[in-house]
Amino acid sequence: MHDIIAVLANGIGFVSETYPGIWIFDTARYLIGAGSVYVIVNIALAHALRNRKIRERSPDWTQKRREILASLRTAAIFAGVGGLSIAGLMAAGFDVVYGDPLARGWPYLIFSTVMLIVLHDAWFYWTHRLIHCPKLFRRFHREHHKSHNPSPWAAYSFDPGEAVVNAIYLPLVLLFIPSAGLAIFIFINHMMIRNAIGHSGYELFPSARNGRPMFDWMTSVTHHDLHHAQAGWNYGLYFSWWDRLMGTEHPLYHEKFAEAVRKPLDGSAIQARKNPLAHTLAAVGFLVVSSSCVLETATVSMQQTLGRAHDMIDVLAQAAPDKAAHQIMQAQ
Ligand SMILES: [Zn+2]
Ligand SMILES: [Zn+2]
Repeated sequence: MHDIIAVLANGIGFVSETYPGIWIFDTARYLIGAGSVYVIVNIALAHALRNRKIRERSPDWTQKRREILASLRTAAIFAGVGGLSIAGLMAAGFDVVYGDPLARGWPYLIFSTVMLIVLHDAWFYWTHRLIHCPKLFRRFHREHHKSHNPSPWAAYSFDPGEAVVNAIYLPLVLLFIPSAGLAIFIFINHMMIRNAIGHSGYELFPSARNGRPMFDWMTSVTHHDLHHAQAGWNYGLYFSWWDRLMGTEHPLYHEKFAEAVRKPLDGSAIQARKNPLAHTLAAVGFLVVSSSCVLETATVSMQQTLGRAHDMIDVLAQAAPDKAAHQIMQAQ
């Protein structure tokens, strides 16, 4: 009984010491990230970007207020579920985050940063498709789709369930890919900015002369804007490869992109979409490479965990040989 009370008291102490800092960080990250995109794109550059505006109308403040309130709730959930899980893992001795960015060399720094982003795109695509199932949509994803014509403030306007699904990703992936604080900093800020830009209502991605996106492997603002206008297409977050591989890209995406950048669409754009072989090969290659990387890092993490468990048993055995032996016998 005393042990349970002590564990509870420790847990409450840990949460009350750790949570406020993470919550302030996550809330500030949202307000600064979404706020900067809103002030720069939707206010300061609105006139300069008028020929890049995707829809004629702009969202009103009733909608923006709802998006902000829902996003602030998401930031609190991100801090509680994601932030506390990572802090808890570190307190338990898992080296999921480390300070020196070059502790494992710069190739690993680049690899881990890229993998955090690429795997998050896969996580987002599949969980996003899942919560679009009619049975889950009302409970998990309705809040986000209340914005048919979103503003940058909609970046985190999630239902609590969707916020938890998104918050789980980082602690989970860090178990397999321990990362430097710098890699996580880049990942979460890239997530924030891409998310806010994707809801800005202005096509900010460069276009080629034929009216196609210059970086067609990335999701443009039009790509996600179409998802809000017509749910059922375009589930991807950063990259377009999952939508292309799974046939969920909006059939008129390139036409709508060309419209947004005020360029006539060249016929070759439609031609390229009729030949998905290159996309399929790229996606299969990505799956093979990423799964082998995850397996590799999972093996290393498992070895580290087993090593730590053995060390703990050794320490216990030295400190109290009889008690440790008793516990080991009981465990067996
Ligand atoms: Zn959706
Ligand atoms: Zn959205």
